[in-house]
Amino acid sequence: MFCACILLFGLADAGMSRARARPSKHVLVLYENNRLLPANVQGDRGINEVISSSGESTVVSAEFLDAPRFNGETYVQTVQTFLREKYRADPPDVIVAGGNGALEFLLNNRADFFPSVPVVHMGVDGWFAKARQPLPADIVGVPVEYDFAGTIEQALKWHPNATRLVVVTGASAPDLELETLLRTTAGQIDGRLTTEFLAGLPTSAVLKRLGELDDDAVVFTPGYFEDGAGRVFVPREAAREMAAASTAPVYGPYNTFIGVGIVGGAMPSFEAMGREAGSIVNRLLAGAAPASLRLPQLMPTTLNVDWRQVRRWGIDEDAMPPDVIVHFRTPSFWEAYRMEALTGIAIVLLQSGLLGGLLVERRRRRGAELAVDKHRFELAHASRLAIAGELTASIAHEINQPLGAILSNVSAAELMLGSGTNDLNEVRQILGDIHRDNLRASEVIRRLRTLLAKHEVERRVIDLNESLADMATILRAEAQRRRVSLAIRPELPAVEVLADRIQIQQILLNLALNAMDAVSEMADERRTVMVSAEQRSGMAAITVRDYGDGIAEEHLPKLFDSFFSTKRTGIGLGLSIVRTLVEAQGGKVWAENGPGDGATFHVDLPLAGSSAALRGASG
Ligand code: ADP
Repeated sequence: MFCACILLFGLADAGMSRARARPSKHVLVLYENNRLLPANVQGDRGINEVISSSGESTVVSAEFLDAPRFNGETYVQTVQTFLREKYRADPPDVIVAGGNGALEFLLNNRADFFPSVPVVHMGVDGWFAKARQPLPADIVGVPVEYDFAGTIEQALKWHPNATRLVVVTGASAPDLELETLLRTTAGQIDGRLTTEFLAGLPTSAVLKRLGELDDDAVVFTPGYFEDGAGRVFVPREAAREMAAASTAPVYGPYNTFIGVGIVGGAMPSFEAMGREAGSIVNRLLAGAAPASLRLPQLMPTTLNVDWRQVRRWGIDEDAMPPDVIVHFRTPSFWEAYRMEALTGIAIVLLQSGLLGGLLVERRRRRGAELAVDKHRFELAHASRLAIAGELTASIAHEINQPLGAILSNVSAAELMLGSGTNDLNEVRQILGDIHRDNLRASEVIRRLRTLLAKHEVERRVIDLNESLADMATILRAEAQRRRVSLAIRPELPAVEVLADRIQIQQILLNLALNAMDAVSEMADERRTVMVSAEQRSGMAAITVRDYGDGIAEEHLPKLFDSFFSTKRTGIGLGLSIVRTLVEAQGGKVWAENGPGDGATFHVDLPLAGSSAALRGASG
């Protein structure tokens, strides 16, 4: 207890010494209503923001008259004494009157406690200020007019079906003042409207009535401080209950109502009122005379809407005036995700461009591939013609032989006929031989023509053994001419591949002739070439083996390159053509040395019916 006393005296003493030093200016804001009234909270924020931004060290005190809850002569006396005593040691340099009641209080009582301190009024109604004219010269401020008529007229534009205006007011003294004002306003509004006042009713009755309204109604309310049942409210909370219960859209005059469920209204901003008062205070503290200030006539009013309510009541979005302040607007997809959407679109465009580019590129490549294929097959054809040239001697031999035999048989027949021997059996035998030799010669020519003709590539199921047999005659003749022993080893049963017959023959021919070249310088025992076809590891395998010198290690990697040749008169296209043809059938070709002396060339082709064969066919 003792300590507490010392503390109290100590503080009082400190206060006295601060008052003497007067390091700061002092502003006292006297609010008419309760500390937590949303309008006060907003106004207070505005005034403090502007005063603190002045750069001066100004102390702002706030007092609340708590009207309309507390009133009466005794209360006024008590507050007056309280303020005088509280601020005796540190009197304010400027007083701000927040609201009609605060200005009224100061007009009546200022002389008794701070007679010469200028007053700035804030949030005071225009009609109230007018009624108190002329105000003393040291009482200045910008009054406010709540645009009831403007709000109601805007509501009627947005709800063209509305023919009924329901106005809700309360029972306290300030509520009754508002009711009077609103009755005047309603009387001046458009004749199409019937107006119903729910004035001074208990909240339960108000909510019940609001819940029965049809879509021909709009509601307007400034809220109330007290309802007909004596229940005390902050007007905003009263409006919240009404908006929740109402089956018709609710409008109001105060920007503090935005967010509680009302659609909106033409509203001045309480924060702006605070800022305006703050700026007047700053000018007075800087030494300006109140009468010298040039102030606006009224606080500006702006249309405010709650976007969610606009949607809820189906208000035409295009019917919004351009200067409306929209609250709680949910951004459209475009607004919310503009960057993401733009990035997405850019990516899609880029991808499409890329895809388009790739398609064009693909078509070009395909065209180029087709051209290359065409050239390859033309080259292959030219190479076959060249080989035929190389084989002329063997071919001539193959044709000459049956022709020679035919000639001898014809001579023999002539002799027989000349000698008068008419052995018909003998003649029949000779004719049979001639026929057989003729067939043999024409078969050689037929095969040659097939091999050398320029043909369209045609993939069919063919037996590799048959291809070997087709080539056997000509290869044997060539081998014989070169004194090479040629072993052709077909395997039974058939080794079937899906391929072009002529191309397979050309592969066999190229590999076999190369093998014969490889043994051309060899001694007799190594002048051997073996050609075989078999099924191996699920593939059709052609093997061409010789007993020559084999392939030099460093030549192996470039053996199949075009124009690689180690031969004096070679042009180096044979193996490159072989590889092209093998790969066109979906197969692969490779070479290795051995086993033992010489080289072995392997060709693996997919067996007919396998998926690889189909791939080769489609490629
Ligand atoms: P060319 O026969 O015109 O030289 P090829 O493409 O047919 O062209 O052959 C290229 C080279 O591969 C030959 O010059 C040779 O060096 C080598 N070659 C091909 N077959 C054999 C083989 N059976 N043994 C050793 N080397 C070979």
